[in-house]
Amino acid sequence: MLSADVVVIGTGIAGCSAALAAAERGASVALLTRSSRPEESNTLYAQGGIVYTGPEDSPSLLTRDIISASAGTGSGQAARMLAEEGPGLVRELLIERLGVPFDRDPRTGELDLTREGAHSVRRVAHHRDYTGRVIERALVRTVLAEPSIQVLSGTDALELLVVEGRCAGVRALRGGREIVIGASATVLATGGLAALYEHTTNPPLATGDGIALALEAGASVGDLHYVQFHPTTLYVPGGDRFLISESLRGEGAVLRDSEGREFVRHPLGSLAPRDVLAREIWEMMRRTGESCAYLDVSHRPAGWLEERFPTIYERCRAAGIEVPVEPIPVVPAAHYSCGGVDTNVWGRTSLPGLWAAGEVARTGLHGANRLASTSLLEGLVFGWRAGLDATRRPQSPPASESLQGRERQTVNGHKPDRGELSAAWARLRRLMWERAGLARSGEGLRAGLAELDGIGAALDGEGGYEALRLRRALAVARSLLRSALADARSRGCHYRVDCEEAVLADISR
Ligand SMILES: Cc1cc2nc3c(=O)[nH]c(=O)nc-3n(C[C@H](O)[C@H](O)[C@H](O)COP(=O)(O)OP(=O)(O)OC[C@H]3O[C@@H](n4cnc5c(N)ncnc54)[C@H](O)[C@@H]3O)c2cc1C
Repeated sequence: MLSADVVVIGTGIAGCSAALAAAERGASVALLTRSSRPEESNTLYAQGGIVYTGPEDSPSLLTRDIISASAGTGSGQAARMLAEEGPGLVRELLIERLGVPFDRDPRTGELDLTREGAHSVRRVAHHRDYTGRVIERALVRTVLAEPSIQVLSGTDALELLVVEGRCAGVRALRGGREIVIGASATVLATGGLAALYEHTTNPPLATGDGIALALEAGASVGDLHYVQFHPTTLYVPGGDRFLISESLRGEGAVLRDSEGREFVRHPLGSLAPRDVLAREIWEMMRRTGESCAYLDVSHRPAGWLEERFPTIYERCRAAGIEVPVEPIPVVPAAHYSCGGVDTNVWGRTSLPGLWAAGEVARTGLHGANRLASTSLLEGLVFGWRAGLDATRRPQSPPASESLQGRERQTVNGHKPDRGELSAAWARLRRLMWERAGLARSGEGLRAGLAELDGIGAALDGEGGYEALRLRRALAVARSLLRSALADARSRGCHYRVDCEEAVLADISR
């Protein structure tokens, strides 16, 4: 059995931030990730940037923007905390300590801040269009170099261990063997669940594992049905939904229909909040029978586009789209989980000994819809807070006898046929898109729940790791659909076609 003062599950921005904060307080940390490459995470793929602070900015203005983008449902306390503490942490940790090379104005040397949808001012720090990559690599480099942090890659958390009503560590799979890591504090930083959907911007591992672990351990979760659909992902029939960053619209790109008309009715036009824009595109496609909308980037020359948005430029060219002369075909796709494991602003969950931070957590910050570029900042701020709090009142580590024999050999048992498993995953992802996607109804959600039961029943008696992964995904999907069914009110990114509000009721917010 391994042990540490704090075990952190996940090496994205939230997990690394929590690990660094705990280490700074003198704690020994075991930092787990299921991927063999510690940087593999949603954080790595973030494009547009991280909220910092602009010249005419203030914490109260950012707080107002967050609450307004959330359709008035976000937590004022969490938003204020993010707005007050976030810019300082970006400066001290990311810029000064880690040396993250955010783009700067070559003339003044000041950060080159961009604007994104529903932000009142330019305040987003970025590195071209691959901000996540430079942040994540700097974080991983730092945690690997920190003597009191032991990074365990290729280690998949299977179960949160609960001893006498308190989380006492984790059971995990490492190199085909089950191991137990005992800890006086456990921090979940396992990211989101949008890869449960057929059309998604997320890498395949983002299937809501942390939610499943928390549910099994008895921790409270909330707002799982608030799944944000990003309005603009590349539409190539049969291709992946590659994200077309919102900052492209922040820099002046405009959404149009196939006739070249601006169809967005919101006063902020192409910079409206994401939930509103995603629905406007969906509505336009339904009305016209079109299979996508178009992002017009012709206001800028190719050279500028290639320099400022190299990844998007290359990806479009590779798909045969001659940007900026031709517009980029775009459709919405599942992007971000606004709900998650319930926490307070220190990351404490309802289960003693367990903290959660980042996309897996629900502080209430985003309410029913997240403001662009706040999620990297959320991981940084609330990861840091969770790491500090987890070391604040150290409990004695669990007695090793209480964890002896907790390995359960999940990897054993009859393994289901690979073809059947991948067909089951495809069924799950399709039903999530069709039943719990951009537009939901009570009837569709009930049918979706019955279909989930059908997929689950086919797994009865099956063992092995792959069956466990699918079971976890089914548990998360079930909770999400139940949560959507219980909420008959359209708000933010949860839109019920069978409730009274019109599709664009919130058009003027
Ligand atoms: C394409 C794309 C672009 C984005 N652009 C932006 C942007 O510009 N600005 C912004 O603010 N946000 C952006 N986001 C959202 C943002 O990237 C994520 O919300 C954020 O990075 C989440 O960080 P996290 O640390 O909570 O989780 P992640 O970065 O996803 O990390 C999760 C970690 O948990 C590990 N893990 C998961 N399950 C287990 C398990 N069972 N056992 C062990 N380890 C496990 C994973 O391996 C990983 O290390 C973007 C997201 C995507 C997909």
